[in-house]
Amino acid sequence: MEEKGNNLKQAVLWEQAGDKKVQCYLCSHRCLIGQGKTGRCRVRKNIDGILYTLTYNKLCSANPDPIEKKPLFHFQPGTSSFSIATEGCNFQCDFCQNWQISQAAVEQGEIDGQAISPEQIVKAAVNYGCKSIAYTYTEPTIFMELCADCGKLAKQNGLANVFVSNGYQTVEAIDFSKDWLDGINIDLKAFNEDYYKRLCKAHLQPVLDTIEYIAKQTDIWLEVTTLIVPNENDSEDELKRLAEFLVTKAGADVPWHISRFHPQYKYLDSIPTPLESLQRAYEIGKAAGLHYVYLGNVPGSRTESTYCYKCDRLLIERLGYGTKKNDIKDGCCPDCGVRIAGFEI
Ligand code: SF4
Repeated sequence: MEEKGNNLKQAVLWEQAGDKKVQCYLCSHRCLIGQGKTGRCRVRKNIDGILYTLTYNKLCSANPDPIEKKPLFHFQPGTSSFSIATEGCNFQCDFCQNWQISQAAVEQGEIDGQAISPEQIVKAAVNYGCKSIAYTYTEPTIFMELCADCGKLAKQNGLANVFVSNGYQTVEAIDFSKDWLDGINIDLKAFNEDYYKRLCKAHLQPVLDTIEYIAKQTDIWLEVTTLIVPNENDSEDELKRLAEFLVTKAGADVPWHISRFHPQYKYLDSIPTPLESLQRAYEIGKAAGLHYVYLGNVPGSRTESTYCYKCDRLLIERLGYGTKKNDIKDGCCPDCGVRIAGFEI
């Protein structure tokens, strides 16, 4: 991997821990990293007692995407978001759909990408007519330095910023980003610790803490996604507890996206999620009191559009990632007048 002489950028959110060790507190792994070693994400390295990011100059993806693809359904609906990533992740999910880039440092022991400056990224976003920059595809927390530099510049150019995240950032990392981060979709992958430990090499509680902290202590717009994996996180009891957690700790206005699983990466001995399981999860979310529940990866379903939670009027009609119409007026339902929560909705 690249060393200090190659213009590495010093990392944010770490401290010296004696003996040339450093403690990173960007994410909840809070790695204690010895001299010459990397953290669990493999993209932050201790060189002579200083922590560096190995990905700042290594962009691996950059595309304009519909904001609905993140998914964010209550955030500037119908707009494009310039979506960027660098390689690496602080999770190692067996079913990762972007494992070629998220697990590159683990699988190949190297990090690829192009040196593209924040100025070039923001300029490209403006040229494509995007309304935001999305830090996505891999875990944005671990390329926070690039996110921060892009994010501040994006704000100066009238663009918003969104994360698509596993929710493992520390409170310190959330506070570090909250002045320029406008929206976030957090994967709440399951509501059981065994799932997080066995399939993601992480823990559940930090993700719950992030969701609650963002909902209660920041102005960042929050949506949550759960991938339903057959026989892993789809029991009625677990989904009920998950939905109740969202209502009580994040609020009924937080949109919950229920997503369909397809076998990926190391997790191949499973069927795709049956449609009945998705529908059951949808009903559990609505019964818990969530105002907005959506089914993902099921094109053509009624459940990909937005309806008024009070009078059931169709408000935003979607087909796949496309928005066919948006009837919301000044943030409210045009029929009953109830407020529809969101960011520039
Ligand atoms: S970002 Fe997380 S996984 Fe990476 S070094 Fe820091 S604490 Fe460890």
